[in-house]
Amino acid sequence: MSVTAYRSSRVVLPGGVQEATVLVEGERIAEVVLGPRRVAAAIDFGDRVIGPGLVDCHVHVNEPGRTEWEGFDTATRAAAAGGVTALVDMPLNSLPVTTTAAALEQKKAASAGKCRVDVGFWGGVVPGNGAELGALAAGGVLGCKAFLVHSGIDEFPNTTAADLREAMPVLRDAGLPLLAHAELDLGAEVTSDDRRTYGRYLASRPAAWEDEAIKLLVELCRETRCPVHIVHLSSASSVPLLRAAKAEGLPITVETCPHYLCLQAESIPDGATFYKCAPPIRDAKNRDALWAALLEGVIDFVITDHSPCSPSLKLADSGDFEAAWGGIASLQLGLPAVWTEARRRGAGLAELFHWMSAAPAEFAGLSTRKGRIAAGLDADLVVLDPEEERLVSPEQLFFRHKVSPYLGQKLLGRVHATLLRGTCVYDGQVHPGAPRGIHLLHRGAPE
Ligand SMILES: [Zn+2]
Repeated sequence: MSVTAYRSSRVVLPGGVQEATVLVEGERIAEVVLGPRRVAAAIDFGDRVIGPGLVDCHVHVNEPGRTEWEGFDTATRAAAAGGVTALVDMPLNSLPVTTTAAALEQKKAASAGKCRVDVGFWGGVVPGNGAELGALAAGGVLGCKAFLVHSGIDEFPNTTAADLREAMPVLRDAGLPLLAHAELDLGAEVTSDDRRTYGRYLASRPAAWEDEAIKLLVELCRETRCPVHIVHLSSASSVPLLRAAKAEGLPITVETCPHYLCLQAESIPDGATFYKCAPPIRDAKNRDALWAALLEGVIDFVITDHSPCSPSLKLADSGDFEAAWGGIASLQLGLPAVWTEARRRGAGLAELFHWMSAAPAEFAGLSTRKGRIAAGLDADLVVLDPEEERLVSPEQLFFRHKVSPYLGQKLLGRVHATLLRGTCVYDGQVHPGAPRGIHLLHRGAPE
């Protein structure tokens, strides 16, 4: 098998960022040669950064059933263009939702031959599907997600503590984590009648909803010892509780999203429903506290929670936040969005790739093949110019609908190329060849 070599003065390695040449043989990294030693016929990227492909383990692809919102073809094109080489699909908002083994089979069939990056699946926990969890695990889901509040669609009802007490030991014994949407509906005092104002929407989902849900999840984790993962943390007031739970040794992990780290309530115009997501984007002070928790390690990693829908639902009724669908589209933009803000706050490339590649790969059980540039792992590489600034415009975006709060923003860090298991899948355009992505990533070692 022939070897291809890629050199850069800035390769993001587990030990830090340094000059190196990455030797790729077939689909795997064969060797990493450190320092300035010349490797014959190396492709030289100069000062452009070579990093491990990102692992975005929170993406709503919505196929089958709501492919008009997003699908495997468009989502994985956007992923490739954004430097994401592995994504994990959420059990909603496809139809059927992935809460049965039969539905997982439909997911596998719907994604076959369409994936331009590697894809894995989360299953779902809903009231009454306890008997399906073992079959979902056997079918290859990487973990299962539950909601503690209405999910937005009736096909995926939320669970109670009693439901979770049943499901969590099953997941624990299967070696899978419970992923939880942590909000409890405690009611809220809404002062304004104007459904177009962002302040009204923010007040309708207060931080207490998240804080109470996380308190309950910590208790359930302590009780069952099932690994619990808090998806899309928005409320920084939960950080002390999470810090204490981790210090206690409970198996709890936490993710947050680019929109909570990069955007703030004060700057969201009334009627701008493309900023709507749940839990909501909070104020600047909260954002600063989330950054502190990320830098401290209480928040483990960053994923996009790419969750698009058709524009008519997103931009509903001229800016009515209550009527609009919640969810932010950013799969392709996570890297530059987070990097722009990270650099402003003094964080470096090593942290960036830890948060967006190594740590999510570890959480999803993919770290024996993804998330690091090291011999033996998949040759998933992203070539990035971290100093290049770019205005985000609709024609750059590959996801199905060009609706995103980042449109018109200047972001730092441009992805120039993406390699998936040794083959270029993006180099300014998505490669037109047949999609090569695996559409069922398993936990543990490569098959
Ligand atoms: Zn989500």
